[in-house]
Amino acid sequence: MNISEIGQIISKEKIYINEPMSKYTSFKIGGPAEYLIKVQTIKELKNILKFAKEKNIKLTVIGNGSNLLVSDEGIKGIVAKIEINTLEIDTENARVNVGSGVKLGLLAQKCLKRGIAGFEFASGIPGTIGGAIRMNAGAHGKEMKDVVQSIEYIDRDGEIHKITNEQAKFEYRNSIFSYNDYIITNVEIQLEKGNMDKIKNKMEEYAEYRKEKQPIEYPSAGSTFKRGTDFITAKLIDECGLKGYQIGGAQISEKHAGFIINKDNATSEDVKKLIEYTKKEVYNKFGKIIEEEIQII
Ligand SMILES: Cc1cc2nc3c(=O)[nH]c(=O)nc-3n(C[C@H](O)[C@H](O)[C@H](O)COP(=O)(O)OP(=O)(O)OC[C@H]3O[C@@H](n4cnc5c(N)ncnc54)[C@H](O)[C@@H]3O)c2cc1C
Repeated sequence: MNISEIGQIISKEKIYINEPMSKYTSFKIGGPAEYLIKVQTIKELKNILKFAKEKNIKLTVIGNGSNLLVSDEGIKGIVAKIEINTLEIDTENARVNVGSGVKLGLLAQKCLKRGIAGFEFASGIPGTIGGAIRMNAGAHGKEMKDVVQSIEYIDRDGEIHKITNEQAKFEYRNSIFSYNDYIITNVEIQLEKGNMDKIKNKMEEYAEYRKEKQPIEYPSAGSTFKRGTDFITAKLIDECGLKGYQIGGAQISEKHAGFIINKDNATSEDVKKLIEYTKKEVYNKFGKIIEEEIQII
């Protein structure tokens, strides 16, 4: 594959060659993507899917890269960074129709300005709508499952489908998109009319909570591990005495044991070693298996 071939299906200024993934991940870690393409429309996405299928090229989809650990070797083939940024808000009915590339924080701000309540929980999650659906992202007792009406996605053959909330089979940090290659393009969200001051206060309170509890001053991918069914993972890690434990440039945050942070130019290998070490320590001390929440590419 070369640039002139891809250039036939998408305009060249949207294609980046050997682009460091550290620029596109909140961890600020990751080797180069062979080809990174910023995808703004469904038509572009369809063209890329067709091209990748015909040429048998691996296609990796990312949103805002806030839940990703990309390997130091980088990513072969095409990385499609979804930037479908359409947004329609029906203020009267508190209904939102949103492209999968829109950031959660931006949507929360737009809802606030229109006095629409119910999306405050997502205001501090640094992902896109697509990534949040895939992960069933949540915070402060609410998750995407609670607000989503329907989801539109494209399969790898370029066919568009629309499914309901129930069909998305949302679970804790999982959805059908965790097990399929589908690419989310658009989402309908039902919220409710609310009071602007109350919405604003809630968002400020949540932001304050994050600032106080989470190491947002360092690059990370949020909680490294999933919550356990009958235990709080961060608490077990803390009780293993691992806060501040460091391998290479990666460290278990001193502020929140559930976060691995990029303390000092960490490599992907450093983080992986620290993940394995943490899992082993927790298992040895408590007999519990902990599972990554972050997606490793
Ligand atoms: C400081 C910090 C705090 C965080 N706090 C929270 C929190 O409170 N709650 C929470 O749930 N998460 C949290 N996260 C994790 C992360 O922000 C969420 O998981 C977010 O939803 C990921 O969205 P993204 O667009 O960045 O996805 P990415 O990280 O780019 O991708 C995540 C996964 O989704 C897939 N994906 C992305 N876009 C699409 C698409 N359009 N179609 C299909 N698949 C797609 C990717 O292939 C990948 O498998 C936090 C992260 C950080 C760095």
